[in-house]
Amino acid sequence: MPIFEYVCEKCGYKFEKLIRSSDSDKKQKCPECGSENTKKVFSTFACGGNSGGFSAPSCGG
Ligand SMILES: [Zn+2]
Repeated sequence: MPIFEYVCEKCGYKFEKLIRSSDSDKKQKCPECGSENTKKVFSTFACGGNSGGFSAPSCGG
């Protein structure tokens, strides 16, 4: 089972979860503030998709 990393867009809290691939698209509740306004973070290839306000410094642009 892969570990997915999520970030809460409300409070900015980052957390990891062991999730079955079929459940990976579901919203995960933030353990810090309880908000469901979270999104998946891809730390390995952050340059792949540029949707949202997340940008990686290593992208260089
Ligand atoms: Zn939160």
